[in-house]
Amino acid sequence: MSTGKWTDYINPAVQNMPPSGIRRFFDLAAEMEGVISLGVGEPDFATPWHIRESCIYSLHRGRTSYTSNQGLPELREEIARYLAGQGAVYDPRRELLVTVGVSEALDLALRTVIQPGDEVIIPTPCYVSYIPCTTLAGGVPVTVATRLEDNFRLTADRLEAAITPRTKALLLCYPNNPTGAVMDRQSLLAIAEVVAKHDLLVISDEIYDRLTYTGRHTCFAALPGMRDRTILLNGFSKAYAMTGWRLGYAAAHPDFIAAMTKIHQYTMLCAPITAQVAALEALRHGQSAMEQMVAQYNRRRRLVLQGFKEIGLPCFEPGGAFYAFPYIGHTGLSAAEFAENLLREEKVAVIPGDVFGPGGEQCIRCSYASSVDDLTEAVKRMGRFIKNRTAGRAR
Ligand code: PMP
Repeated sequence: MSTGKWTDYINPAVQNMPPSGIRRFFDLAAEMEGVISLGVGEPDFATPWHIRESCIYSLHRGRTSYTSNQGLPELREEIARYLAGQGAVYDPRRELLVTVGVSEALDLALRTVIQPGDEVIIPTPCYVSYIPCTTLAGGVPVTVATRLEDNFRLTADRLEAAITPRTKALLLCYPNNPTGAVMDRQSLLAIAEVVAKHDLLVISDEIYDRLTYTGRHTCFAALPGMRDRTILLNGFSKAYAMTGWRLGYAAAHPDFIAAMTKIHQYTMLCAPITAQVAALEALRHGQSAMEQMVAQYNRRRRLVLQGFKEIGLPCFEPGGAFYAFPYIGHTGLSAAEFAENLLREEKVAVIPGDVFGPGGEQCIRCSYASSVDDLTEAVKRMGRFIKNRTAGRAR
């Protein structure tokens, strides 16, 4: 029975979901030649060779089967060892679940804890999945715009002001995508106090933990009293340049992990064994390769910040991840206009800050996970673009 209108068959929750604002820019950029893209949130390195090799070797040996639903026991042990080093101790048998990227872990965490109408506080600007995944899980996203003057950190008073009797969870992401903001231990302790006072859960996406350039990363679950009310998410995509392998994990109280594993066993069964073998190698022997990549990102971070300064683009200093989030309000353009015109006129792709939710309207996201040559050229082109704008406005 076809009415010719197949959209009528589609769940309105999905129909009403806006497509990712990032994709739109990729599509625009893909149609043009000579574009330098600072748009993608992805390392420009290939996965370190020894990690790829371990996977090839395991395939040679015929390791092509399913694993246990929760993931290879030896991988979970290695993850537990890593997290213990961050001050968060987990039992690898009952408190860890290996997932298909942090993406799956996030979806599982939200679907596991949310009941229809539950509010989830999401500090913004935020990673593009948080709001749609919360909605799809039946939750109500409550955004709290972080501010440039707070260095894009969530403050305890702004968090407290957003809490209602329906608030179930807080979704944290530090180091942050898209701002590059990090939270120091003191500021996180203030957040933890509010969380405990209002009996909230925290879903803490710490996928960029290793990409911290200023100070040391604080694992939210390692703060006093937070372990059992936190679902900690992390993965291999960013630190080990393993985006395409699709591997992440969740660490939490056994009640949460058991519940999340129920969904995971029916929807995914298990994460791919190839990726799990590679992740094991990454944790066992990948430290030095990872540190070299992080040192490169840090070098590029400084280069981009210096470059922005020279071209008159004000930018707060990002302490983590691989994004800069400069302010473009003074150009008189909206973030979308800035990004579109910059792409058309100078062939540099950046992402308008408003696609990451409230608080990003006057900023653009520039990923510096690109080569030094590309970054240098991109900054030069952006400088020319801004000069033309300001000259035009002065006339
Ligand atoms: N969380 C954040 C904050 C991210 O930036 C990304 C990827 N851009 C993800 C989760 C998804 O990561 P994964 O590749 O592990 O699914």
